[in-house]
Amino acid sequence: MNFRLIFLLVLSSLGCSTIALAHPLGDREFNQLEQLLIDYDFVIRYELPPSTNRRGYRPYGLLDTRSKTIWINPVVFDLGNAKPTLIHEAVHASQTCAGNGKIQLLDLAIEPPQITRPYFTYYHGQRREIEAQAYTIQAQPDSLAIVTELLNKYCQ
Ligand SMILES: [Zn+2]
Repeated sequence: MNFRLIFLLVLSSLGCSTIALAHPLGDREFNQLEQLLIDYDFVIRYELPPSTNRRGYRPYGLLDTRSKTIWINPVVFDLGNAKPTLIHEAVHASQTCAGNGKIQLLDLAIEPPQITRPYFTYYHGQRREIEAQAYTIQAQPDSLAIVTELLNKYCQ
């Protein structure tokens, strides 16, 4: 039994079902992707990411390529965007595997949808391309299938 299940059982025995919803327990697809990342030796921490972005905010997600640690900001569970956040970081995980620990662009045939452009155009150089790939995949209707394929292709 994992610690989350114990946590939820404790909460449900206390009758705190609304608190349980705010706990980092995603839906089935979220849990599936989380497990795949763990299988490929990534560590996932449900804590405030240890750095701020260019605008001075804690990002929704962060990946440290050296320690293969992914931070998921717990606020995403309240905002309802936990899954796209994990998918975004999983793309960066694939990019990390592709570059053997150094983040690298993937060989992708998908163009960034117009809606994603504001999210990465303020980055420059290679970082912009890296972010464009992550936002492009998270915006696809079959994003989970795509990122699963990428992880299996590059991290195995
Ligand atoms: Zn990113």
